Amino acid sequence: MKKALKESTSKFIKIRCHKCKNEQIMFGKASTVVNCLVCGKVLAEPTGGKSRVKGRVLEVLE
Ligand SMILES: [Zn+2]
Repeated sequence: MKKALKESTSKFIKIRCHKCKNEQIMFGKASTVVNCLVCGKVLAEPTGGKSRVKGRVLEVLE
């Protein structure tokens, strides 16, 4: 995994929930908490205008 993927991004990213393995697309700079659509686990939370991703980033979409 590239280091950059761990950082916040202004692009859309595909993340996978650690709990239920659901994959979903979210905006890298989401200003609200992002929950897994399947199990409700928090996948990302806002930290000063950026998102801290808790799930696994699979892909950064251009
Ligand atoms: Zn989940």
